[in-house]
Amino acid sequence: MINTKSDFINDQSISEILTNYSKPEAAQVKDVLTKAREMKGLSLEDVAVLTGANDPSQIQELFDTANDIKDTIYGKRLVMFAPLYITNLCANECTYCAFRAKNKAIVRKALNQEEVKRETEALIKQGHKRVLLVAGESYPKQGFQYVLDSVRAVYEASYNNDNIRRVNVNVAPLTLEEFKLLKNEKIGTYQIFQETYHRETYKKVHIGGKKMDYDWRVTAPHRAMEAGIDDVGIGVLFGLYDYRYELLALMQHIQELERVYGVGPHTISVPRMEPATGSDMASQPPFPVSDLDFKKIVAILRLAVPYTGIIMSTRESEQMRRDTFALGVSQISAGSRTNPGGYEEEDEISGQFSLGDHRPMDEVIRDVAQMGYVPSFCTGCYRLGRTGQDFMDMAKPGAIKAHCGPNALSSFMEYLNNYASPETFKIGTELIEKTISGLEGVPADRARKLVDRVNNGHSDVYC
Ligand code: SAM
Ligand code: SF4
Repeated sequence: MINTKSDFINDQSISEILTNYSKPEAAQVKDVLTKAREMKGLSLEDVAVLTGANDPSQIQELFDTANDIKDTIYGKRLVMFAPLYITNLCANECTYCAFRAKNKAIVRKALNQEEVKRETEALIKQGHKRVLLVAGESYPKQGFQYVLDSVRAVYEASYNNDNIRRVNVNVAPLTLEEFKLLKNEKIGTYQIFQETYHRETYKKVHIGGKKMDYDWRVTAPHRAMEAGIDDVGIGVLFGLYDYRYELLALMQHIQELERVYGVGPHTISVPRMEPATGSDMASQPPFPVSDLDFKKIVAILRLAVPYTGIIMSTRESEQMRRDTFALGVSQISAGSRTNPGGYEEEDEISGQFSLGDHRPMDEVIRDVAQMGYVPSFCTGCYRLGRTGQDFMDMAKPGAIKAHCGPNALSSFMEYLNNYASPETFKIGTELIEKTISGLEGVPADRARKLVDRVNNGHSDVYC
């Protein structure tokens, strides 16, 4: 029986833990940071303690610990992706979103399959290999089949013999049957953000449409996993409610998935509310999260769930994105547009929210490489079936580094050869050489071989 109730999000236990642990002594914070270095994750109580670490030296220690854990598990790699908005039609009334049904200030559009292909080609031309397909909750006459057709269209699109190799999907909660159909289309991760786990707030901000049903949404990851989609991404829209509460509730959600399916989420997203056309709330979030608290959120998550990817979108500014790489972020989007058709045609007004980072992909890649991070376009794990539990098992002993490190370098080399500007090519190739010379043993041999194969004209090589 799949769980259809949200009782695993337990308000009472969250408020008790926050009352008892979120004003910690310095020694308590130290103990939790020491425990975190074992990289076995943290309890809800530990997370509450860290939310109460407010002294500048404690915060610095938290950030340093997050940086060390990120380096140990992920190395310097940063996975790249771009969102592809296929429709901004929506039957829901989420008060923070420009796509909400009653908002008359945006132009509505649902891309047809030809348009989906053209948008995809525009992304391939930028060098992308991973796409996150996004939609409002109202599909043209084909209904849910529209989403399935769109996933297929993305995979079918090609430019210069290149194509998108992994399609992740962020759409409204589906039934078990629909999830099975989605899995058949060979999607990578299914993503869904609860927005807020706080029931009262959830009710206040979702005032129309199917999204009003909290339980249906919070159990969507259960149905996805039940349907065989191993990689599920979850998240919170920060700004709707107290971030301390949200972090603990997110932990309860993770624990529930681990308990039932033996594996937690593949990724966690941390969208922070941004201004959106036609939404007063989006410009004045009820619980604004300061920049410092936002960084704390990322660092705490890195410690709490060390093997789960953390995604940072272009909602955030260039500088905030840079700052959070060292705190635990493992995936970033680049060159994004949030209006359907936005890669072919500029229309900021009809986007879902305002972007904080407007730079084109090549510039982001150059910046990331200049900071010493290796942009990765690898999609190897998912194509080799290393998903869900298998991925986690491999990640835990650090073996992921032996694969992901070399794969990141070969996929970056492929990007540089085919899509980079001369300046980015120069910075990127220097970084690749420097990175390989810093490796030893098997990872060094693998990396050298894979990069050589790419330079000899092979594409899509991974181990
Ligand atoms: N419509 C589907 C849904 O709501 O689940 C698909 C995803 S929606 C297009 C993508 C995400 O954008 C939402 O889950 C929400 O967290 C985020 N979002 C909405 N309005 C936002 C805003 N003003 N600022 C930042 N993120 C926002
Ligand atoms: Fe629609 Fe999703 Fe925006 Fe809500 S967040 S209005 S469901 S697109």
